[in-house]
Amino acid sequence: MHSSSLSPSSSSSSPSAPLAAAPVAAIAPEVTTPDFASLGLAAPLLRALGEEKYDRPTPIQQQTIPHILAGRDLLGCAQTGTGKTAAFALPMLQRLSQAQPSAPGTRRGIRALILVPTRELAVQVADSFGTYGRHLRLSRATVFGGVGQGPQVDALRRGTDIIVATPGRLIDLMDQGHVHLGNVQTLVLDEADRMLDMGFIKPIRQIIAKLPAQRQNLLFSATMPPDIAQLADQILRNPAKVAVNPVASTAPAIAQWVLFVDKDNKRSLLREVLRDPAMKRVLVFTRTKHGADRVTRDLDKAEVRAEAIHGNKSQGARQKALSAFRDGRIRVLVATDIAARGIDIDGVSHVINFELPNEPESYVHRIGRTARAGAGGVALSFCDGEERAYLRDIERLTKAKLAVVSDHPYPATGAPSRGDDGDGRRQGRPQGRPQRHGGGRGRRDGGMQARA
Ligand code: AMP
Repeated sequence: MHSSSLSPSSSSSSPSAPLAAAPVAAIAPEVTTPDFASLGLAAPLLRALGEEKYDRPTPIQQQTIPHILAGRDLLGCAQTGTGKTAAFALPMLQRLSQAQPSAPGTRRGIRALILVPTRELAVQVADSFGTYGRHLRLSRATVFGGVGQGPQVDALRRGTDIIVATPGRLIDLMDQGHVHLGNVQTLVLDEADRMLDMGFIKPIRQIIAKLPAQRQNLLFSATMPPDIAQLADQILRNPAKVAVNPVASTAPAIAQWVLFVDKDNKRSLLREVLRDPAMKRVLVFTRTKHGADRVTRDLDKAEVRAEAIHGNKSQGARQKALSAFRDGRIRVLVATDIAARGIDIDGVSHVINFELPNEPESYVHRIGRTARAGAGGVALSFCDGEERAYLRDIERLTKAKLAVVSDHPYPATGAPSRGDDGDGRRQGRPQGRPQRHGGGRGRRDGGMQARA
């Protein structure tokens, strides 16, 4: 089912993915923070926001909503977790609902197109439109690969106001004549940096070529490398520019630690680290799909409930793993960068970089999965000898030195010893994180415990 009405009768968010998010609400509203009404949002949207228990707009929402309502193009630098989806969905819904409805009996033309890098993000963004637009009479459809196209084609045939799509499948359906983009008034490129990383630049250009020249364009990206700046230059017209985080900065609420460990000991270290009961909901990142499978199998053997999500898994299997993780039925989700892109899971207590990413921007994306929208979080990075260069790149990009967990049972051979890093790093133990108690180096019998 890839299309649904946004009317009150059809709640769009699945029960396993509650959209009422405590984390953003947890940011203490400043006295001067405007409320949603003062940003110019209309009653049906305010009602939905009230039902979602969103008290105040987040910074990206405050800065963005008035510009989009005014019809301007916009360049937004914001990570997932900042509330950026609502920042564009709310004003878009308002504009769509206020525009002339199609004549009775005519098929609804697509008026808003949101391009996203992954299927998971497509589902989430469409769900958000459903949630915020539940008191409006607008319809939406999702278009993404990895599943049969039949239901998507049916939804398009019925007519839809909004479509949320990944570029590859959208091009497929356009080529088959199922999608007509001649009525699009607003285009959103969400997570544009990821879309370029994933090689979507050509399909994006092909899609844009089919849009009317007169339209509103919104581009959101977590990072602003030169190729994104160039794309923005080509697409956006006199855009408002908003940024809620300096480029490539990491959220300050995240405690970031590095654990130096030999490659062969990483799996043992992971098992040890996961003995800490404070590790309630843990997202583990590997560089490859096979790596994700290997880690998951290994955890299974150690009776740690874990699932892997990556591009080789069917859409069904990925969604199933995600809901099990969201519901707390599994404690550990093992993911590759691409599969985890944009997934919105509240309450991730820890991100573990089982392997460091070779692109430092991915580190920022990864750890952004914890400390969502203002809640605290911890990121642990397992760094072996070959990954030191990646660590340096990450620290150069984030302009911060990761603190070293100086006391764990599998220290890397030749790793700097405690208090003698020689690299100006802070050392110690993360609060509430594993610590070694007795036992020697390389000890394998569970020499870690949580601090009270
Ligand atoms: P996003 O950055 O769009 O992925 O949003 C991150 C999370 O924050 C989602 O779970 C949203 O439902 C939630 N959220 C967005 N805006 C607000 C707000 N103003 N108050 C509370 N929660 C919010």
